[in-house]
Amino acid sequence: MKLHIQNNFTAELPADPSEINIPRQVQEACFSYVEPKKPSNPSLIHASVEVACFLGLSEDDIHSEDFLNTFSGNVIYPGTKPYAMPYAGHQFGNWAGQLGDGRAINLTEVLHNNASYTLQLKGAGPTPYSRTADGFAVLRSSIREHLCAEAMHYLGVPTTRSLSLILSGDKVLRDVMYNGNPAYEKGAIVSRVAPSFIRFGNFELFASRKDHDTLQLLTNYTIKHHFPDIKSEGVEKYLDFFQTVTQTTLDMIVNWQRVGFVHGVMNTDNMSIHGITIDYGPYGWLEDYNPDWTPNTTDNQHKRYRFGNQPDIALWNLYQLANALYPLINDAKPLETILNAFSTDYQKKYLNMMRNKLGLKINKDEDPVLIENLTELLQLIETDMTIFFRNLSDVQKEDALEIALDRIKEAFYNENDGSESVLNNWHNWLQQYIDRINQETITDGERKQFMNGVNPKYVLRNYMAQLCIDAADKGDYSLLNELFELLKKPYDEQPESQKWFAKRPDWARDKVGCSMLSCSS
Ligand code: AMP
Ligand code: MG
Repeated sequence: MKLHIQNNFTAELPADPSEINIPRQVQEACFSYVEPKKPSNPSLIHASVEVACFLGLSEDDIHSEDFLNTFSGNVIYPGTKPYAMPYAGHQFGNWAGQLGDGRAINLTEVLHNNASYTLQLKGAGPTPYSRTADGFAVLRSSIREHLCAEAMHYLGVPTTRSLSLILSGDKVLRDVMYNGNPAYEKGAIVSRVAPSFIRFGNFELFASRKDHDTLQLLTNYTIKHHFPDIKSEGVEKYLDFFQTVTQTTLDMIVNWQRVGFVHGVMNTDNMSIHGITIDYGPYGWLEDYNPDWTPNTTDNQHKRYRFGNQPDIALWNLYQLANALYPLINDAKPLETILNAFSTDYQKKYLNMMRNKLGLKINKDEDPVLIENLTELLQLIETDMTIFFRNLSDVQKEDALEIALDRIKEAFYNENDGSESVLNNWHNWLQQYIDRINQETITDGERKQFMNGVNPKYVLRNYMAQLCIDAADKGDYSLLNELFELLKKPYDEQPESQKWFAKRPDWARDKVGCSMLSCSS
Protein backbone atom coordinates (compact mmCIF):
# COMPACT_ATOMS: atom_id res chain seq x y z
CA MET A 1 0.00 0.00 0.00
CA LYS A 2 1.58 3.23 -1.16
CA LEU A 3 0.42 6.63 0.05
CA HIS A 4 1.88 9.86 -1.27
CA ILE A 5 2.40 11.49 2.09
CA GLN A 6 2.97 15.08 3.02
CA ASN A 7 3.28 16.66 6.45
CA ASN A 8 2.72 20.38 5.93
CA PHE A 9 0.75 20.94 9.12
CA THR A 10 3.40 19.57 11.44
CA ALA A 11 6.27 20.97 9.39
CA GLU A 12 5.01 24.54 9.34
CA LEU A 13 3.21 25.04 12.65
CA PRO A 14 4.47 25.06 16.23
CA ALA A 15 4.52 21.71 18.01
CA ASP A 16 3.87 21.00 21.65
CA PRO A 17 7.40 20.34 22.97
CA SER A 18 6.10 17.66 25.30
CA GLU A 19 5.24 14.21 23.97
CA ILE A 20 3.84 12.97 27.24
CA ASN A 21 0.42 11.52 26.58
CA ILE A 22 -1.53 12.68 29.59
CA PRO A 23 -4.43 15.15 29.67
CA ARG A 24 -3.12 18.68 30.12
CA GLN A 25 -3.32 22.28 28.97
CA VAL A 26 -1.08 22.87 25.96
CA GLN A 27 0.13 26.39 25.22
CA GLU A 28 1.37 28.08 22.06
CA ALA A 29 1.20 24.92 19.98
CA CYS A 30 -1.04 23.79 17.14
CA PHE A 31 -0.58 20.07 17.79
CA SER A 32 0.90 17.42 20.07
CA TYR A 33 2.55 14.32 18.73
CA VAL A 34 0.73 11.24 19.93
CA GLU A 35 0.65 7.60 18.93
CA PRO A 36 -2.55 5.63 18.49
CA LYS A 37 -3.13 2.82 20.96
CA LYS A 38 -2.49 -0.58 19.42
CA PRO A 39 -5.81 -2.42 19.05
CA SER A 40 -5.79 -5.96 20.40
CA ASN A 41 -7.44 -7.67 17.44
CA PRO A 42 -8.33 -5.32 14.58
CA SER A 43 -10.59 -6.43 11.76
CA LEU A 44 -11.97 -4.52 8.81
CA ILE A 45 -15.74 -4.23 8.73
CA HIS A 46 -16.19 -1.94 5.79
CA ALA A 47 -14.32 0.50 3.56
CA SER A 48 -15.41 3.05 1.02
CA VAL A 49 -13.84 2.11 -2.31
CA GLU A 50 -14.44 5.59 -3.68
CA VAL A 51 -12.60 7.29 -0.82
CA ALA A 52 -9.75 4.81 -1.11
CA CYS A 53 -9.58 5.55 -4.80
CA PHE A 54 -9.16 9.30 -4.42
CA LEU A 55 -6.39 8.66 -1.92
CA GLY A 56 -4.66 6.62 -4.61
CA LEU A 57 -5.51 3.22 -3.07
CA SER A 58 -6.90 0.20 -4.90
CA GLU A 59 -9.42 -2.41 -3.81
CA ASP A 60 -6.52 -4.79 -3.25
CA ASP A 61 -4.94 -2.25 -0.94
CA ILE A 62 -8.14 -2.12 1.12
CA HIS A 63 -7.82 -5.82 1.89
CA SER A 64 -4.11 -5.70 2.64
CA GLU A 65 -2.43 -6.15 5.99
CA ASP A 66 -0.92 -2.68 5.57
CA PHE A 67 -4.33 -1.09 5.30
CA LEU A 68 -5.64 -2.81 8.40
CA ASN A 69 -2.51 -1.93 10.34
CA THR A 70 -2.44 1.71 9.25
CA PHE A 71 -6.12 2.50 9.69
CA SER A 72 -6.53 0.70 12.98
CA GLY A 73 -3.56 2.52 14.46
CA ASN A 74 -1.65 -0.73 14.84
CA VAL A 75 1.36 0.39 12.81
CA ILE A 76 2.50 3.90 12.03
CA TYR A 77 2.89 4.47 8.31
CA PRO A 78 6.55 5.04 7.42
CA GLY A 79 7.55 8.69 7.30
CA THR A 80 4.57 9.93 9.30
CA LYS A 81 4.25 11.14 12.87
CA PRO A 82 0.63 11.21 14.12
CA TYR A 83 -0.66 14.15 16.13
CA ALA A 84 -3.68 15.58 17.90
CA MET A 85 -4.78 19.21 17.74
CA PRO A 86 -5.91 21.42 20.57
CA TYR A 87 -8.99 23.52 20.00
CA ALA A 88 -11.55 25.23 22.18
CA GLY A 89 -15.20 25.93 21.70
CA HIS A 90 -18.61 27.07 22.78
CA GLN A 91 -20.69 24.07 23.77
CA PHE A 92 -24.46 24.61 23.94
CA GLY A 93 -23.78 28.34 24.00
CA ASN A 94 -21.24 28.27 26.84
CA TRP A 95 -17.52 28.78 26.67
CA ALA A 96 -15.84 25.42 27.29
CA GLY A 97 -12.14 26.33 27.25
CA GLN A 98 -9.55 23.95 25.84
CA LEU A 99 -11.03 20.86 24.20
CA GLY A 100 -9.13 19.33 21.29
CA ASP A 101 -8.80 16.01 19.51
CA GLY A 102 -9.68 13.90 22.53
CA ARG A 103 -10.07 10.73 20.56
CA ALA A 104 -9.05 11.79 17.09
CA ILE A 105 -5.52 11.30 15.88
CA ASN A 106 -4.33 12.78 12.61
CA LEU A 107 -2.13 10.31 10.77
CA THR A 108 -0.77 12.35 7.90
CA GLU A 109 -1.70 14.35 4.84
CA VAL A 110 -1.97 12.54 1.52
CA LEU A 111 -1.47 14.12 -1.88
CA HIS A 112 -3.21 12.50 -4.84
CA ASN A 113 -4.23 13.96 -8.19
CA ASN A 114 -3.27 17.44 -7.03
CA ALA A 115 -5.62 17.29 -4.05
CA SER A 116 -4.48 17.11 -0.46
CA TYR A 117 -6.36 15.25 2.27
CA THR A 118 -5.77 14.76 5.96
CA LEU A 119 -6.32 11.25 7.31
CA GLN A 120 -7.62 11.00 10.84
CA LEU A 121 -8.46 8.07 13.08
CA LYS A 122 -11.41 8.50 15.41
CA GLY A 123 -11.44 6.25 18.44
CA ALA A 124 -7.76 5.28 18.34
CA GLY A 125 -6.98 6.05 21.96
CA PRO A 126 -6.26 8.88 24.36
CA THR A 127 -4.42 12.08 23.59
CA PRO A 128 -3.36 15.06 25.71
CA TYR A 129 -6.85 16.43 24.92
CA SER A 130 -8.89 13.49 26.19
CA ARG A 131 -9.69 15.30 29.46
CA THR A 132 -11.50 12.74 31.61
CA ALA A 133 -12.56 10.43 28.77
CA ASP A 134 -10.90 7.33 27.32
CA GLY A 135 -10.14 8.27 23.71
CA PHE A 136 -12.08 5.37 22.28
CA ALA A 137 -15.27 5.03 20.26
CA VAL A 138 -17.91 2.31 20.18
CA LEU A 139 -19.11 0.35 17.17
CA ARG A 140 -22.58 1.91 17.41
CA SER A 141 -21.41 5.49 16.91
CA SER A 142 -18.70 4.50 14.45
CA ILE A 143 -21.25 2.82 12.18
CA ARG A 144 -23.37 5.95 12.38
CA GLU A 145 -20.41 8.13 11.39
CA HIS A 146 -19.14 5.89 8.61
CA LEU A 147 -22.55 5.40 7.00
CA CYS A 148 -23.79 8.93 7.39
CA ALA A 149 -20.68 10.74 6.21
CA GLU A 150 -20.76 8.75 2.99
CA ALA A 151 -24.55 9.07 2.64
CA MET A 152 -24.24 12.85 2.99
CA HIS A 153 -21.63 12.97 0.27
CA TYR A 154 -23.86 11.10 -2.15
CA LEU A 155 -26.73 13.41 -1.25
CA GLY A 156 -24.56 16.29 -2.39
CA VAL A 157 -24.09 17.71 1.12
CA PRO A 158 -20.55 18.92 1.90
CA THR A 159 -19.03 16.56 4.46
CA THR A 160 -15.95 14.87 5.82
CA ARG A 161 -15.60 11.45 4.21
CA SER A 162 -15.13 8.07 5.83
CA LEU A 163 -12.53 5.68 4.48
CA SER A 164 -12.97 2.72 6.76
CA LEU A 165 -14.67 1.18 9.74
CA ILE A 166 -12.53 -1.19 11.77
CA LEU A 167 -13.31 -3.21 14.85
CA SER A 168 -10.56 -2.81 17.44
CA GLY A 169 -11.16 -6.07 19.25
CA ASP A 170 -11.28 -4.15 22.54
CA LYS A 171 -14.23 -3.42 24.79
CA VAL A 172 -15.29 0.09 25.67
CA LEU A 173 -17.44 1.04 28.66
CA ARG A 174 -20.34 3.41 27.99
CA ASP A 175 -23.42 4.62 29.84
CA VAL A 176 -25.58 5.18 26.77
CA MET A 177 -28.38 7.19 28.33
CA TYR A 178 -26.28 8.63 31.17
CA ASN A 179 -28.59 6.96 33.67
CA GLY A 180 -26.13 4.91 35.69
CA ASN A 181 -26.24 1.80 33.52
CA PRO A 182 -22.78 1.48 32.01
CA ALA A 183 -22.09 -1.54 29.84
CA TYR A 184 -19.25 -2.82 27.70
CA GLU A 185 -19.58 -2.35 23.97
CA LYS A 186 -17.38 -3.24 21.01
CA GLY A 187 -14.73 -0.65 20.24
CA ALA A 188 -14.22 0.61 16.70
CA ILE A 189 -12.12 3.04 14.71
CA VAL A 190 -13.26 5.14 11.79
CA SER A 191 -10.73 6.75 9.48
CA ARG A 192 -11.98 10.11 8.39
CA VAL A 193 -10.80 12.07 5.41
CA ALA A 194 -11.08 15.82 4.82
CA PRO A 195 -9.01 18.67 3.41
CA SER A 196 -8.27 19.39 7.06
CA PHE A 197 -9.93 18.96 10.44
CA ILE A 198 -9.44 22.57 11.45
CA ARG A 199 -12.49 23.93 13.25
CA PHE A 200 -13.78 27.32 14.39
CA GLY A 201 -12.58 26.22 17.81
CA ASN A 202 -8.92 26.05 16.72
CA PHE A 203 -8.97 29.82 16.25
CA GLU A 204 -11.06 30.43 19.37
CA LEU A 205 -8.44 28.70 21.49
CA PHE A 206 -5.60 31.07 20.66
CA ALA A 207 -7.81 34.16 20.64
CA SER A 208 -9.12 33.31 24.12
CA ARG A 209 -5.55 33.11 25.40
CA LYS A 210 -4.54 36.30 23.64
CA ASP A 211 -1.89 34.21 21.91
CA HIS A 212 -2.08 36.32 18.77
CA ASP A 213 1.16 34.99 17.35
CA THR A 214 -0.05 31.41 17.16
CA LEU A 215 -3.47 32.62 16.02
CA GLN A 216 -1.82 34.39 13.13
CA LEU A 217 0.43 31.46 12.27
CA LEU A 218 -2.54 29.11 12.16
CA THR A 219 -4.67 31.52 10.12
CA ASN A 220 -1.88 32.19 7.62
CA TYR A 221 -1.24 28.47 7.30
CA THR A 222 -4.92 27.71 6.80
CA ILE A 223 -5.31 30.32 4.09
CA LYS A 224 -2.10 29.39 2.32
CA HIS A 225 -2.87 25.68 2.13
CA HIS A 226 -6.63 25.49 2.09
CA PHE A 227 -7.85 28.75 0.57
CA PRO A 228 -5.43 29.25 -2.32
CA ASP A 229 -7.95 31.42 -4.17
CA ILE A 230 -7.46 34.15 -1.59
CA LYS A 231 -4.82 36.39 -3.14
CA SER A 232 -5.25 39.47 -0.95
CA GLU A 233 -2.81 40.45 1.77
CA GLY A 234 -2.96 41.81 5.31
CA VAL A 235 -6.33 42.53 6.86
CA GLU A 236 -8.12 41.92 3.55
CA LYS A 237 -6.79 38.39 3.49
CA TYR A 238 -8.35 37.59 6.86
CA LEU A 239 -11.63 39.18 5.85
CA ASP A 240 -11.72 37.19 2.62
CA PHE A 241 -11.10 34.08 4.65
CA PHE A 242 -13.95 34.88 7.01
CA GLN A 243 -16.23 35.74 4.09
CA THR A 244 -15.46 32.38 2.44
CA VAL A 245 -16.08 30.40 5.62
CA THR A 246 -19.37 32.27 6.09
CA GLN A 247 -20.43 31.44 2.56
CA THR A 248 -19.55 27.74 2.65
CA THR A 249 -21.11 27.34 6.10
CA LEU A 250 -24.30 28.90 4.81
CA ASP A 251 -24.35 26.60 1.79
CA MET A 252 -23.87 23.59 4.04
CA ILE A 253 -26.83 24.58 6.22
CA VAL A 254 -29.09 25.12 3.20
CA ASN A 255 -28.21 21.57 2.18
CA TRP A 256 -29.00 20.22 5.65
CA GLN A 257 -32.41 21.90 5.51
CA ARG A 258 -32.98 20.51 2.03
CA VAL A 259 -32.55 16.89 3.05
CA GLY A 260 -33.90 17.15 6.61
CA PHE A 261 -30.63 16.56 8.44
CA VAL A 262 -30.29 17.63 12.07
CA HIS A 263 -26.68 17.73 13.23
CA GLY A 264 -27.56 17.64 16.91
CA VAL A 265 -24.39 19.18 18.37
CA MET A 266 -23.56 22.39 16.53
CA ASN A 267 -20.98 23.48 19.07
CA THR A 268 -18.25 25.70 17.61
CA ASP A 269 -15.74 22.88 18.04
CA ASN A 270 -17.90 20.85 15.66
CA MET A 271 -17.83 23.48 12.89
CA SER A 272 -15.31 22.88 10.12
CA ILE A 273 -13.73 25.93 8.49
CA HIS A 274 -14.31 24.15 5.16
CA GLY A 275 -18.08 24.38 5.51
CA ILE A 276 -18.32 20.60 5.60
CA THR A 277 -20.41 18.52 7.98
CA ILE A 278 -18.19 17.11 10.70
CA ASP A 279 -18.56 15.04 13.87
CA TYR A 280 -21.49 12.74 13.38
CA GLY A 281 -22.77 12.22 16.91
CA PRO A 282 -26.41 12.33 17.97
CA TYR A 283 -27.55 13.51 14.55
CA GLY A 284 -30.86 12.54 13.02
CA TRP A 285 -33.15 12.87 10.04
CA LEU A 286 -36.52 14.50 10.15
CA GLU A 287 -39.13 11.87 9.61
CA ASP A 288 -42.32 13.79 10.32
CA TYR A 289 -41.59 17.38 9.38
CA ASN A 290 -41.07 19.14 12.70
CA PRO A 291 -38.76 22.18 12.87
CA ASP A 292 -38.61 21.83 16.67
CA TRP A 293 -37.16 18.35 16.60
CA THR A 294 -33.69 17.41 17.77
CA PRO A 295 -32.50 13.84 18.23
CA ASN A 296 -30.07 14.88 20.98
CA THR A 297 -31.46 14.01 24.40
CA THR A 298 -28.72 16.14 26.01
CA ASP A 299 -30.39 19.14 24.33
CA ASN A 300 -33.92 18.06 25.13
CA GLN A 301 -34.75 20.98 27.35
CA HIS A 302 -33.76 23.99 25.26
CA LYS A 303 -33.57 22.29 21.88
CA ARG A 304 -30.88 24.76 20.90
CA TYR A 305 -29.84 22.59 17.96
CA ARG A 306 -33.33 21.78 16.66
CA PHE A 307 -33.85 21.54 12.89
CA GLY A 308 -35.42 24.98 12.48
CA ASN A 309 -32.71 26.67 14.53
CA GLN A 310 -29.72 25.44 12.52
CA PRO A 311 -29.37 28.57 10.35
CA ASP A 312 -29.43 30.88 13.39
CA ILE A 313 -26.93 28.70 15.22
CA ALA A 314 -24.61 28.71 12.23
CA LEU A 315 -24.70 32.50 12.38
CA TRP A 316 -24.11 32.46 16.15
CA ASN A 317 -21.11 30.23 15.60
CA LEU A 318 -19.80 32.51 12.87
CA TYR A 319 -19.96 35.38 15.39
CA GLN A 320 -17.63 33.36 17.61
CA LEU A 321 -15.25 32.81 14.70
CA ALA A 322 -15.40 36.53 13.90
CA ASN A 323 -14.49 37.31 17.51
CA ALA A 324 -11.60 34.88 17.30
CA LEU A 325 -10.24 36.43 14.11
CA TYR A 326 -10.80 40.00 15.33
CA PRO A 327 -7.27 40.44 16.77
CA LEU A 328 -5.92 39.97 13.24
CA ILE A 329 -8.30 42.53 11.81
CA ASN A 330 -8.81 45.09 14.59
CA ASP A 331 -11.90 46.49 12.99
CA ALA A 332 -15.34 45.14 13.79
CA LYS A 333 -17.14 46.94 10.95
CA PRO A 334 -16.19 44.74 7.98
CA LEU A 335 -16.77 41.60 10.06
CA GLU A 336 -20.23 42.87 10.99
CA THR A 337 -20.97 43.64 7.37
CA ILE A 338 -20.27 40.01 6.46
CA LEU A 339 -22.29 38.71 9.40
CA ASN A 340 -25.19 41.07 8.68
CA ALA A 341 -25.45 39.74 5.15
CA PHE A 342 -25.84 36.16 6.42
CA SER A 343 -29.57 36.27 7.17
CA THR A 344 -30.61 37.88 3.89
CA ASP A 345 -28.28 35.60 1.93
CA TYR A 346 -29.70 32.64 3.77
CA GLN A 347 -33.28 33.70 3.03
CA LYS A 348 -32.43 33.98 -0.66
CA LYS A 349 -30.71 30.62 -0.85
CA TYR A 350 -33.34 28.91 1.26
CA LEU A 351 -36.07 30.26 -1.00
CA ASN A 352 -34.24 29.02 -4.07
CA MET A 353 -33.65 25.64 -2.50
CA MET A 354 -37.34 25.31 -1.59
CA ARG A 355 -38.34 26.39 -5.10
CA ASN A 356 -36.18 23.56 -6.38
CA LYS A 357 -37.80 21.12 -3.98
CA LEU A 358 -41.17 22.19 -5.38
CA GLY A 359 -39.94 21.94 -8.96
CA LEU A 360 -40.34 25.65 -9.66
CA LYS A 361 -37.90 27.04 -12.20
CA ILE A 362 -39.41 30.51 -12.60
CA ASN A 363 -39.31 32.99 -9.70
CA LYS A 364 -42.70 34.35 -8.73
CA ASP A 365 -43.47 36.88 -6.02
CA GLU A 366 -46.03 34.56 -4.46
CA ASP A 367 -43.50 31.73 -3.95
CA PRO A 368 -42.46 32.67 -0.40
CA VAL A 369 -46.10 32.49 0.72
CA LEU A 370 -46.64 29.18 -1.06
CA ILE A 371 -43.58 27.78 0.71
CA GLU A 372 -44.51 29.17 4.11
CA ASN A 373 -48.02 27.80 3.81
CA LEU A 374 -46.54 24.42 3.00
CA THR A 375 -44.11 24.28 5.91
CA GLU A 376 -46.97 25.18 8.26
CA LEU A 377 -49.22 22.59 6.72
CA LEU A 378 -46.59 19.88 6.99
CA GLN A 379 -46.75 20.31 10.77
CA LEU A 380 -50.51 20.08 11.17
CA ILE A 381 -50.53 16.32 11.06
CA GLU A 382 -47.46 14.08 11.16
CA THR A 383 -46.19 14.11 7.60
CA ASP A 384 -43.04 12.38 6.44
CA MET A 385 -40.72 14.97 4.90
CA THR A 386 -38.84 12.65 2.54
CA ILE A 387 -41.90 10.82 1.25
CA PHE A 388 -43.88 14.03 0.87
CA PHE A 389 -41.37 15.82 -1.35
CA ARG A 390 -40.55 12.73 -3.34
CA ASN A 391 -44.21 12.03 -4.07
CA LEU A 392 -45.03 15.65 -4.75
CA SER A 393 -43.18 15.24 -8.03
CA ASP A 394 -46.03 12.95 -9.16
CA VAL A 395 -48.56 15.78 -9.01
CA GLN A 396 -49.52 16.88 -12.49
CA LYS A 397 -50.70 20.10 -14.03
CA GLU A 398 -54.10 18.63 -14.93
CA ASP A 399 -54.68 16.79 -11.65
CA ALA A 400 -58.01 17.08 -9.89
CA LEU A 401 -57.50 17.94 -6.21
CA GLU A 402 -58.53 14.50 -4.94
CA ILE A 403 -56.02 12.85 -7.23
CA ALA A 404 -53.25 15.23 -6.23
CA LEU A 405 -54.02 14.55 -2.56
CA ASP A 406 -53.95 10.80 -3.17
CA ARG A 407 -50.45 11.14 -4.59
CA ILE A 408 -49.03 12.63 -1.41
CA LYS A 409 -51.20 10.92 1.24
CA GLU A 410 -48.67 8.15 1.70
CA ALA A 411 -46.58 10.71 3.61
CA PHE A 412 -49.19 11.08 6.37
CA TYR A 413 -48.32 8.96 9.40
CA ASN A 414 -51.96 8.33 10.02
CA GLU A 415 -53.93 8.59 6.84
CA ASN A 416 -57.18 8.85 8.78
CA ASP A 417 -55.74 11.53 10.96
CA GLY A 418 -56.76 14.33 8.67
CA SER A 419 -59.77 16.13 10.07
CA GLU A 420 -61.92 17.90 7.55
CA SER A 421 -60.19 21.21 8.17
CA VAL A 422 -56.75 19.69 7.64
CA LEU A 423 -57.88 18.13 4.38
CA ASN A 424 -59.37 21.45 3.36
CA ASN A 425 -56.07 23.10 4.03
CA TRP A 426 -54.34 20.51 1.88
CA HIS A 427 -56.86 21.03 -0.89
CA ASN A 428 -56.23 24.75 -0.74
CA TRP A 429 -52.51 24.35 -0.85
CA LEU A 430 -52.58 21.80 -3.65
CA GLN A 431 -54.82 24.14 -5.64
CA GLN A 432 -52.24 26.92 -5.22
CA TYR A 433 -49.50 24.49 -6.16
CA ILE A 434 -51.27 23.20 -9.25
CA ASP A 435 -51.99 26.78 -10.33
CA ARG A 436 -48.36 27.56 -9.77
CA ILE A 437 -46.93 24.64 -11.77
CA ASN A 438 -49.27 25.60 -14.58
CA GLN A 439 -47.32 28.86 -14.85
CA GLU A 440 -44.15 26.88 -15.51
CA THR A 441 -43.02 26.05 -19.01
CA ILE A 442 -41.52 22.64 -18.18
CA THR A 443 -43.65 19.50 -18.63
CA ASP A 444 -44.82 17.27 -15.78
CA GLY A 445 -42.15 14.76 -16.76
CA GLU A 446 -39.39 17.33 -16.78
CA ARG A 447 -40.47 18.69 -13.41
CA LYS A 448 -40.54 15.23 -11.90
CA GLN A 449 -37.03 14.52 -13.11
CA PHE A 450 -35.80 17.85 -11.79
CA MET A 451 -37.47 17.40 -8.38
CA ASN A 452 -36.19 13.87 -8.02
CA GLY A 453 -32.67 15.21 -8.32
CA VAL A 454 -33.27 17.51 -5.35
CA ASN A 455 -35.57 15.46 -3.12
CA PRO A 456 -33.86 12.20 -2.12
CA LYS A 457 -35.79 8.97 -2.17
CA TYR A 458 -33.54 7.32 0.42
CA VAL A 459 -32.02 8.88 3.52
CA LEU A 460 -30.41 7.22 6.51
CA ARG A 461 -33.46 7.19 8.73
CA ASN A 462 -32.62 6.84 12.38
CA TYR A 463 -34.24 3.43 12.69
CA MET A 464 -32.36 2.13 9.65
CA ALA A 465 -29.05 3.00 11.29
CA GLN A 466 -30.24 1.33 14.48
CA LEU A 467 -31.27 -1.91 12.72
CA CYS A 468 -27.85 -1.95 11.11
CA ILE A 469 -26.17 -1.43 14.48
CA ASP A 470 -28.19 -4.21 16.16
CA ALA A 471 -27.15 -6.65 13.43
CA ALA A 472 -23.52 -5.52 13.41
CA ASP A 473 -23.31 -5.95 17.17
CA LYS A 474 -24.06 -9.62 16.54
CA GLY A 475 -21.39 -9.75 13.82
CA ASP A 476 -23.78 -9.52 10.89
CA TYR A 477 -22.68 -6.77 8.50
CA SER A 478 -25.02 -7.58 5.61
CA LEU A 479 -27.36 -4.69 6.40
CA LEU A 480 -24.43 -2.31 6.71
CA ASN A 481 -23.31 -3.31 3.22
CA GLU A 482 -26.85 -3.08 1.91
CA LEU A 483 -27.48 0.40 3.32
CA PHE A 484 -24.10 1.65 2.17
CA GLU A 485 -24.90 0.63 -1.42
CA LEU A 486 -28.46 1.96 -1.20
CA LEU A 487 -27.33 5.36 0.05
CA LYS A 488 -24.80 5.74 -2.73
CA LYS A 489 -27.70 6.50 -5.07
CA PRO A 490 -30.18 8.34 -2.87
CA TYR A 491 -31.94 10.05 -5.78
CA ASP A 492 -32.40 6.93 -7.90
CA GLU A 493 -35.47 4.77 -7.92
CA GLN A 494 -34.23 1.45 -6.58
CA PRO A 495 -37.31 -0.76 -6.83
CA GLU A 496 -35.61 -3.67 -5.06
CA SER A 497 -35.14 -1.37 -2.03
CA GLN A 498 -38.63 0.08 -1.91
CA LYS A 499 -38.94 -1.14 1.68
CA TRP A 500 -36.56 1.67 2.72
CA PHE A 501 -38.88 4.24 1.21
CA ALA A 502 -41.23 3.96 4.12
CA LYS A 503 -42.31 5.89 7.13
CA ARG A 504 -40.61 5.24 10.44
CA PRO A 505 -42.18 2.11 11.93
CA ASP A 506 -44.13 2.61 15.12
CA TRP A 507 -41.67 0.66 17.28
CA ALA A 508 -38.99 3.21 16.42
CA ARG A 509 -40.94 6.28 17.48
CA ASP A 510 -39.41 6.61 20.94
CA LYS A 511 -36.72 3.96 20.87
CA VAL A 512 -33.21 4.78 22.05
CA GLY A 513 -30.97 5.10 19.01
CA CYS A 514 -33.88 5.79 16.70
CA SER A 515 -35.32 9.10 17.75
CA MET A 516 -33.43 9.59 20.98
CA LEU A 517 -29.67 9.76 21.03
CA SER A 518 -27.26 10.95 23.64
CA CYS A 519 -23.75 12.27 23.09
CA SER A 520 -22.41 8.96 24.41
CA SER A 521 -20.27 7.49 21.71
P1 AMP B 1 -18.07 15.84 20.73
O1 AMP B 1 -19.24 16.19 21.57
O2 AMP B 1 -18.04 14.41 20.28
O3 AMP B 1 -17.87 16.78 19.60
O4 AMP B 1 -16.79 15.97 21.69
C1 AMP B 1 -16.48 17.11 22.41
C2 AMP B 1 -15.09 16.99 22.95
O5 AMP B 1 -14.99 15.83 23.78
C3 AMP B 1 -14.01 16.86 21.91
O6 AMP B 1 -12.88 17.52 22.38
C4 AMP B 1 -13.78 15.37 21.84
O7 AMP B 1 -12.51 15.05 21.37
C5 AMP B 1 -13.96 14.97 23.28
N1 AMP B 1 -14.40 13.58 23.41
C6 AMP B 1 -15.58 13.03 23.09
N2 AMP B 1 -15.60 11.72 23.34
C7 AMP B 1 -14.39 11.40 23.83
C8 AMP B 1 -13.77 10.19 24.28
N3 AMP B 1 -14.41 9.04 24.31
N4 AMP B 1 -12.49 10.27 24.71
C9 AMP B 1 -11.82 11.44 24.71
N5 AMP B 1 -12.34 12.59 24.32
C10 AMP B 1 -13.61 12.59 23.88
MG1 MG C 1 -16.55 17.06 18.24
